Amino acid sequence: MDELQKAKLFASKRAQAERNVKSHIKDILSSLAKDITDASAGISLVSSEAMFRDMLAARTKGVVEDATEKIDAYVKAYSKASITILGDKDTGATGRLLNSLLFGKTYKERNDFYMKCFLDDVVKIIIAGKRLKMRQKDIEKAVDAQYEDPYTNGIIDRANSKGANITIPSYGRGIYHSAYSNIVRNAQGTNSMAWGRENRIIASRSGAIGFRTFRNSTYPCPICDDSAAVELHPMDDPVPPLHLNCVCGCVFIYDKGE
Ligand SMILES: [Zn+2]
Repeated sequence: MDELQKAKLFASKRAQAERNVKSHIKDILSSLAKDITDASAGISLVSSEAMFRDMLAARTKGVVEDATEKIDAYVKAYSKASITILGDKDTGATGRLLNSLLFGKTYKERNDFYMKCFLDDVVKIIIAGKRLKMRQKDIEKAVDAQYEDPYTNGIIDRANSKGANITIPSYGRGIYHSAYSNIVRNAQGTNSMAWGRENRIIASRSGAIGFRTFRNSTYPCPICDDSAAVELHPMDDPVPPLHLNCVCGCVFIYDKGE
C-alpha cells in the first residue's frame, strides 16, 4: 500500500469511527429518553412544575449517570482506536487530550453539561404532553419521536401555542438548541481531534516535514478545497478532519534528503 492509499484508508476508518460513536450515542439516549418517560408516569404536574422536575430528576439520577458513563467510555474507546489503527502504542496522548481544555472546558465537562440539558429537553416534552392532556402512551411516542430535536414542530410548540410557556434553551451562537445534537457533536468532534492528533504525532516522530490534504468526497466545501490546494502544509497546520463530518485525508511528506 502506498502513502496515499494508507491515508485514504485511515480517513475512511476515522469517518467510520465517527459514525459508530453517533450510532452508540443514539441508542443510549433513545433508551434514556424512554427511562425518563417511564419514571414520569406516576408523577402529577398539578401542584407545581418545579416539584415535578425535582421528583423526576431524583428518580432518574442513576440512569442519567449510567448513560453519561457509557457515552464517555465509547468516546474514549473510539478515540483510542486511532492508536491501534496506526499500529502505535498508547503513549497517553489521547487520554490527555480527553482531559485537556478546549475553549475553556474539557470534553467531559461539556458532555456532563449537555446530559443535564438532555434530561431537561425530555422533561419539557413530557410537560408539554401533560399540559396537552395526552395519555402516557402518546407522551411516550412523542418523546421517542422528538428527543433529538424537541424545539421544532413538536408538542412543545403545540403546548406553547396554547399558553404553556415552556422555554426554549439558548446556549449561545453556533450551538444547537437540542442537547442531543450537542452531545453528538461534542463526542464526534473529540473523536476526530484524537484521530487527527494521533496521525500527526506518529508522522512527526518519523520525521515528516509537512503534509498535503486531499478531498475524499465531492461535497462542495471551501474549507477543504482551500486546504487541498496548498502544496505543502507545515506540520503545525490543522490536519483533517477540518470540520465536523469532514472526510478529507492527509499524506505526510518526508525530507527527501533522508
Ligand atoms: Zn474535508
